[in-house]
This record gives sequence, structure tokens and C-alpha cells, in this order.
Amino acid sequence: VSLPVLAIDVGGTKLAAGLVTADGAVTVAQRIPTPTGRGPEIIWNALTELADAVLAEAGSPALQGIGVGCGGPMEWPAGRVTPLNMPDWQDFPLRERLQKRHPGLTVRLHNDAPCFTAAEHWVGAGRGSEFMMGMVVSTGVGGGLILGGRLVDGGTGNAGHIGHVVVDPVGPVCNCGGIGCLQAVARGPAVVEWARQHGWVAGADAAGPELAASARAGDPVAASALALAGTAVGVAISSVAALLDLDLVVVGGGLAESGEVLFGPLRRAVERHLCVPYGKRLEVLPSGVGQHAGLVGAAALVHRGDAYWSAG
Ligand SMILES: [Zn+2]
Repeated sequence: VSLPVLAIDVGGTKLAAGLVTADGAVTVAQRIPTPTGRGPEIIWNALTELADAVLAEAGSPALQGIGVGCGGPMEWPAGRVTPLNMPDWQDFPLRERLQKRHPGLTVRLHNDAPCFTAAEHWVGAGRGSEFMMGMVVSTGVGGGLILGGRLVDGGTGNAGHIGHVVVDPVGPVCNCGGIGCLQAVARGPAVVEWARQHGWVAGADAAGPELAASARAGDPVAASALALAGTAVGVAISSVAALLDLDLVVVGGGLAESGEVLFGPLRRAVERHLCVPYGKRLEVLPSGVGQHAGLVGAAALVHRGDAYWSAG
């Protein structure tokens, strides 16, 4: 009988923890807002209290191990994390701290986008695919790669980071310092900002969901903003699919929940730009795992280590 994995998903706005069975089912899950501006230990304390609450809710079961997904950048596989949207954590030794707290247990940690990709491949829209890319289009744009049925890490754990594939050589400057990266064009805040600059009228707090609602209601500026983002994502997908001979791309993340106002232009861009014969079979699908993809992917690092974990 296989034991559950304690899965942890660390993000700039929320911390989530849950228990995931060996067949990828989430049996317990809790989430809290990420405490900000009060230093690194406050976040650590909140995270461990959350994990303890999840274990208590389940009756303190024995564990197969601990899997963690966290926003990058990070030193991988050592798991020292400096998430872009979590200024309180600079080079925080997350994997080591968890290992010290749970001696004897396997603790594995990866970037959140490779975790999302593993989740989709394991139990989501990517089941059965041998050559796929997972993408998260949200506050940032990230991704992960499955080649030959296995998660590819690259030298530093960043393989698949499609956010820094160039889609517009005279486009906006990216937070990496480069020009015209997909992330600079298609990250949610950039898309909302583009819409505002072009006359979209909305409240100060309005973000991706409001923009998508406007587009669906027929607002032409909102529709153009999401069409530009979808087109940029489709252009990047076309390049990657041509390079790697992919059969599937799964797109998740907050902005991907916009639906057809994003996916329509995205698919048209792929039709226009991916013209090699072997590209004809490429499918682009929305996430099939849903809200718990981060937890399921983190658990996959332990439950399915043969496919998704090649590091020490
Ligand atoms: Zn970049």
C-alpha cells in the first residue's frame, strides 16, 4: 500500500498544502494568503502551520515523502528559493528546512511550472502524451517539458521556460533584461496595462478576469489585448513545437482561464506559424487538472520520481 505525499505549493499570493494519493487524488487541501512584508520566518511559520493543519485533518498519516512546487528563480535541486513575487524570501533554503523538520523523509522541490507540467502529464490533459509542453500564463509566463515521457530539467532546472522565448525583437523589455520575451508581452499585468493604455476603462483593481469578461461582452480594446497575448503565446508555441516535435501543449494559469477570447487567437497563430508537416498533429488544450494542479505536480515529484525527478 502506497502512502500519501504531503504536497506544498508556494506562491506570492497564496500558500497551499494537501495530501495526494499514489493515483493523483487530492484528499485534503488547505490554503492561506502568503504573509508579505514581515520577513522570511513569518512565511516559513505560516507554511509549517498550514502543513501541520493538513496532516492533523487527515489524522497524521505516515507519508511517502514531501513534494514542493515554488515560484522561481531557485537553486535547483538544492531548493534555495528566491521567488520573483516573494521579496521576503531571498535564497531561502526551503528544501533543507523541510528536510530538517522531517528527517528520514524524501523531500523534493521544483519550479512551479515544471510541477504543473508533471501534473498535467500524470493525471490531466497530457495523459499518454510522450512529447508535451506545459505552460502557465499568469502573473508571469512559465513552462515545463516532457520529452520521451519524462520531465526534462536542463542544467539548472529551467528547461521549458517558454516565458523567455522571444516573440517580438522590438517589443517591451522583460524582467530578465531581454527584449520582447513572451513573458514581457503576455503576462497578465502587461496585458491589462496594454488595455488600459488603449482606452479600456475599468476599476483600479481590475485584472485578468475583468479583462476577459469585458472581451466576452464585446469590448473591442479588451478583445484586442487578449488577442495580442494569445497570438504571442501561439507564436512562441509554434517555435517550440517546431524545435522539439511536440504532440501537445497544455496551457493553464490565471490568464488561460479567459477562455476562447485568448485560445481563439492562440490557435489561429499556431495555424499560421507552425507549418512544418510534423506540426499538423499538435494539439493545444487547456489545463485538465484544475485548481489543485500545483499540489498534484509537487506530489508527482515523489510518487512518480522515475518520470519526473532525475536529480538527487
Ligand atoms: Zn525574459
